[in-house]
Amino acid sequence: MSHRIPTSLALALALGLALAGCGRDSAPNAAGERPGRRPDVLLLTIDTLRADHLSAWGYPRLTSPTLDRMAAEGTRFAFAQAQRPKTGPSFTSMFTSGYCSDHGVRRIGQPAGCSMRFLAEEMKELGYQTHAVVANAALAREFYFDQGFDTYIETWGVEPRKAGLDPTGAEAVTDLAEAVVGKLDRDRPYFLWVHYVDPHEPYTPPEPFRDHFQGDGHSGPPVEVPVARRNSRQSWNGIGRRQVLDGRTDLPFYVARYDAEIRYVDDQIARLLEALRRRGDYDRMLTVMTSDHGESLGEHNYWFDHGMFGFQTCLHVPLVVRLPGLARAAVDSGPVELVDLAPTILEVAGKRLREGTWMRGRSLVPRLRGEAPPARPIAFAEAGYSSREGWIRVATDGRFTLHRLLDRADRRRVAHADREFALFDLAADPGETRNVADLHGADLTRLRDALAAWEQAAPLPLRGDSDDCGDRAMESDTEAQLRALGYL
Ligand SMILES: [Zn+2]
Repeated sequence: MSHRIPTSLALALALGLALAGCGRDSAPNAAGERPGRRPDVLLLTIDTLRADHLSAWGYPRLTSPTLDRMAAEGTRFAFAQAQRPKTGPSFTSMFTSGYCSDHGVRRIGQPAGCSMRFLAEEMKELGYQTHAVVANAALAREFYFDQGFDTYIETWGVEPRKAGLDPTGAEAVTDLAEAVVGKLDRDRPYFLWVHYVDPHEPYTPPEPFRDHFQGDGHSGPPVEVPVARRNSRQSWNGIGRRQVLDGRTDLPFYVARYDAEIRYVDDQIARLLEALRRRGDYDRMLTVMTSDHGESLGEHNYWFDHGMFGFQTCLHVPLVVRLPGLARAAVDSGPVELVDLAPTILEVAGKRLREGTWMRGRSLVPRLRGEAPPARPIAFAEAGYSSREGWIRVATDGRFTLHRLLDRADRRRVAHADREFALFDLAADPGETRNVADLHGADLTRLRDALAAWEQAAPLPLRGDSDDCGDRAMESDTEAQLRALGYL
């Protein structure tokens, strides 16, 4: 089943090809600085990471000391929204700066295709070397997420440095990312994307993190996790029998494990940042840290999964942008969409943008500098498992969330009422449990009008070579990894 190649060989092959024939940016001067050189870019993404479980977002457990420090040194966007709470669709939106209605990717395993330009392609055109290390098989090259990358390392295809190490675990990811960093061409700026997957179910962090938070005084109420009779994986109404860990069925146990996954990733990110610091890069580079979606930890009777609903448990993701000299150390509480990341990175990398926009996104650079956004922003998203017309659409201004429920089953589950629109007041009810559409008529109308305009916008033009992707069959390793994550 497995055809892993050793780390050293994988890197030699990948980087040997990538670094051949590199152009020069500007020669270092006597002080070792490169005048006029554009900033290196690190994009750190952590799968399935809820913003509200990071200590920087006020979570009582110390889950993220490294990310907290990064947030304190940069701009923390307190209310960032994923465009769809599933890995493939969310990353397609992040990299193309398009909504699902533009790129059409709504399911795991659905290829991102070649019909839209990817961020890495733009970066390459700007003269960047482009490298990626990814640990989630939903981002495998079979699905075209490697577009624009000189090297694209899928961790599950590489033998870990240490025997017994999980090849998709954070330690293996940092090992590979560190090795890439060690071989970067010093004469050209680089764009490095590193994707960690650990907080994704099953919640099984390694020692010494595994039970780091169990019984620490921050456990929630002793809620029982419903366990189905059947073995197979499920998440609505409870979990399947094979998802039970250590024979436990109390929610606080699982939440502590989820939090320990975050702490483990944070620890490994510290190691990667240290490597960048040793090169003298970290304090001169643009660092963007975010997630593709959150996780439902039993809220709304939805257990240890994401994708089905448009609640904030799954749409609200962390976002930190750090670039000393440009991004002020501050908290920006206005809504931000993940489609805004590509124009932000491109503007810092030197691309000229028309009125600060690229595709659907708007560059965050003015907000990093402390300038107010041009208009009161509203963020849009969609959710739902349904592949037919009926899925959930969400609009939020940070105070209210409006859910448009096109499927009757969703209406009963989400709004506890049989109506098309549900409105929740995040200030009074952050858990989105009480539909207040009847109490806030003006806000309902305002968000409904904004959502209708968003829905009616013409899709972005495709570049027209979507048939030129070539056919890529799914590798057995990728399939095995997708199965382990519960996708197949
Ligand atoms: Zn994901």
